Amino acid sequence: MGAAPQKGEEFRKEVCFLAQYHGSVCKLCRRELQKLFLKGERCYSDKCAFERRGYPSGEHGQSRGKFSDYKNQLREKQKLRRTYGILEKQFRKYFKEADRKRGITGENLLIFLERRIDNIVYRLGFASSRKQARQLVSHNHILVNGKRVNIPSFLVTTGDVIEVREKSRKMISVNEAIDAVERLGAASWLELNKDSYQGKVIALPERKDIAIPIQEQLIVELYSR
Ligand code: SF4
Repeated sequence: MGAAPQKGEEFRKEVCFLAQYHGSVCKLCRRELQKLFLKGERCYSDKCAFERRGYPSGEHGQSRGKFSDYKNQLREKQKLRRTYGILEKQFRKYFKEADRKRGITGENLLIFLERRIDNIVYRLGFASSRKQARQLVSHNHILVNGKRVNIPSFLVTTGDVIEVREKSRKMISVNEAIDAVERLGAASWLELNKDSYQGKVIALPERKDIAIPIQEQLIVELYSR
């Protein structure tokens, strides 16, 4: 079993504030010209708004001009930020930390985002979207190494065991999401034990494990301006 959640590097303890966005999340996909998978099952169905109208909403949605370098960089950053549901201020903190760390900044950034407990809950299939996963975490339904963790930005590390609290295992949304992950496939760096509602971080993800169509170098260029 991994370290107790309260211990570990300082960055793991960073206080989270919920990334609240109250508008239509499908508009965000249309704005970014890419499916961001923010609505769970619906994203894989023919009800997906982007599948039906793959262009930004509004009067000029279909008549956008050519993007400048700056706009491309900005859009890439927004895409990644919106995929994980992170507010700008917190996203910048991740970038700073990724830049400070050894290795390739863009990859470090993606790995930090993947290690968030709300993302892990989503990747393990306890929730059908990151937003739903964030709610499960902040409403005390999730344990890490047997202890309650209700901070969605908590970063997991190798060996951590993540589970749905026993009295929350009957939740319909959790069971529907677990069934779906079997169809869609769980992340290779996580091990899921569906029967015990538990998952384990068997290794930290590498860039090749993060199948998000993002050119992270553009984000590095944006913040290096
Ligand atoms: Fe995006 Fe489609 Fe999911 Fe809506 S349903 S959030 S448009 S991927």
